[in-house]
Amino acid sequence: MEFVWSPWRYDYIASAGKTPSSCVFCIGEDPSNDPDRLVVYRGVHNFVILNLFPYTSGHFMVAPFVHTAEFDQARSDQIAEMMELAQRGIRALKTLYKPEGFNLGMNLGHCAGAGIREHFHLHVVPRWIGDASFMGITGETRVLPEVLAVTYRRFLEVF
Ligand SMILES: [Zn+2]
Repeated sequence: MEFVWSPWRYDYIASAGKTPSSCVFCIGEDPSNDPDRLVVYRGVHNFVILNLFPYTSGHFMVAPFVHTAEFDQARSDQIAEMMELAQRGIRALKTLYKPEGFNLGMNLGHCAGAGIREHFHLHVVPRWIGDASFMGITGETRVLPEVLAVTYRRFLEVF
């Protein structure tokens, strides 16, 4: 008999009934749709997912399994893993795309620019000199040199 230690199940069970199906960060337990949802990796408390509307190629996010807007209420072990996954993703992006810099950040609350404010998440955006050219600044137009499905496959291999 195989015994699997699965502490994330507690979070999942504890949050049952509070996970609206409309929330893109409430991915549930079933990993079968992970490629379609661009989920790269599942940790104990958090998962890594590519941004569907990336600012640059390789833009990913780390989010907790638990549906909550309250970053300041998260436990230190949850936050520690979130940061470890961000580091791991950055190492993968360094290997793949040789970025010249990164932006890491959270938008907490509507006025802070959060698109999905009910479920906090950490953005990791690789940057290159000149990537924020007039296209992005003037017209909300983003120039992406790579198709998302390709980014997903490459990122998955390295992560
Ligand atoms: Zn959620």
